Amino acid sequence: MADKFDVIVIGAGPGGYVAAIRAAQMGLKTACVEKWVNKQGKTVHGGTCLNVGCIPSKALLETSHKFIDARDHFGEIGLEVGDITPNVPKMLEFKESVIAKNTGGISALFKANGVTALEGTGKVLSNNKVEVTGKEGEKETYEADNIVIASGSVPVEIPPTPLTEGLIVDSAGALEFTEAPKRLGVIGAGVIGLELGSVWSRLGSEVTVLEAMDSFLPMVDQAVAKETQKLLGKQGLDIKLGARVTGSEIKDNEVVVKYTDSKGEQEQTFDKVIVCVGRRPYTQGVLSDDAGVKLDERGFIFVDDQCRTSVPGVFAIGDCVRGPMLAHKASEEGVMVADIIAGHKAEMNYDAIPSVIYTSPEVAWVGMTEQQAKSEGIEVKTGSFPFSANGRALANNAPDGMAKVIADADTDRILGIHIVSQHAGELIAQGVIAMEFGSSAEDLALTCYAHPTTSEAIHEAALAVDGHAIHMANRKKRK
Ligand code: FAD
Ligand code: AMP
Repeated sequence: MADKFDVIVIGAGPGGYVAAIRAAQMGLKTACVEKWVNKQGKTVHGGTCLNVGCIPSKALLETSHKFIDARDHFGEIGLEVGDITPNVPKMLEFKESVIAKNTGGISALFKANGVTALEGTGKVLSNNKVEVTGKEGEKETYEADNIVIASGSVPVEIPPTPLTEGLIVDSAGALEFTEAPKRLGVIGAGVIGLELGSVWSRLGSEVTVLEAMDSFLPMVDQAVAKETQKLLGKQGLDIKLGARVTGSEIKDNEVVVKYTDSKGEQEQTFDKVIVCVGRRPYTQGVLSDDAGVKLDERGFIFVDDQCRTSVPGVFAIGDCVRGPMLAHKASEEGVMVADIIAGHKAEMNYDAIPSVIYTSPEVAWVGMTEQQAKSEGIEVKTGSFPFSANGRALANNAPDGMAKVIADADTDRILGIHIVSQHAGELIAQGVIAMEFGSSAEDLALTCYAHPTTSEAIHEAALAVDGHAIHMANRKKRK
């Protein structure tokens, strides 16, 4: 038997690596097992997020956004740039360099914090043991007082569109196109589908998004979702709602996608198709038969509110457990679990987890939508404010979008904030803090905001909850 640890974490994505660093910071002898091997054959940390998720997608979103800004909008503000062309291979190089910096950073943090990095595939055995199988198949068994499973998730595949090298790809494949496909089909109008569709649309693809549901972004307040749909449509994304993909055929190096909509059977031909129909928990090979760790009916590792599994001393966090599949949710669970293992009281507020779609403009939200609150029988009052009435947004030449505050009609407590605007992903942090502190809409309304900032739109939306927005014509009289 090799070393004994206080904590062994399986998986070094944003859940696992954060749990490992926090545990080490708390003075616990910690190891983290990771099996991800990059294109150069090197074991790398960071998981989906750093290698094929949040970070590389944002590198391509930002570079493609800069291209559109320079080509289509710089002239509007007096900057003549002449011809500008995207160099996709160079963009991919930049993206790879960003991945390398980020993943290398995690390895450096492990060293700095004294986390032992174990390379290979970790498997939870019974009696608090973890077996690690290395790249050559060599096995080593370690003992740990506590085990944290952070094995993440993988893309869902659907039978109508089996992945086909270079033609039908998943989100990771869509980060590798070396040129913009002429006709690109995106299956699924969720967060990832809209982000990747935006990247390639900006770089020249004709993008059609096929979404089975009739509603657009049902998790976002519908006023904000409608505005988003309008703005993305104007950019050229052809978003077809109520279009369920039922089959596909490869013909002459093209993909014919079959779908049904309200008019019946349809088909459309694409040069490439990205399947973005969600992700599923990844637990393959993580649990031995006698580990005793239970899964729920959807294949997630079953955990309580504090991420304890059915086996004492074994925790699970991140995408492999219930809750939103988001990097920051995984990381916060990692911190909570490390603190619990270190003997502290810790819990998470699952009601104040922000979500962001990094389209342009960005969509960001925290808490309930107006529709959700009403469906739960909560009486609400709401305030909205358009960025076209915000001085800084106009100065930024980014007047699109709106902010909406949803508050409890009785108590004024903020139930949700939903925004579509430039940098909404940054703006939402103030909504998260407000909700974390249990603020009322009036608390935000009475807060002094710096001028000129786009944050002032949130201030105005909070003022508008009681009809007192300053920069809006049709406001109520103060009683
Ligand atoms: P993962 O990041 O999936 O990491 C799990 C790790 O465990 C992997 O490295 C895997 O190799 C390892 N592993 C699994 N089994 C074993 C084993 N047996 N032994 C050793 N290692 C193992 N989220 C956001 O919050 N913001 C975004 O902008 C965002 N954008 C995204 C864009 C795309 C294209 C995708 C695909 C995802 C995006 N996400 C985003 C989601 C985000 O990536 C995940 O929510 C996050 O990575 C989950 O973290 P995790 O630690 O639970 O799992
Ligand atoms: P998300 O779970 O946010 O990544 O979004 C995935 C989206 O894919 C959801 O909005 C689903 O409705 C959609 N979806 C799933 N299966 C299909 C299908 N066969 N055809 C079209 N859209 C689909």
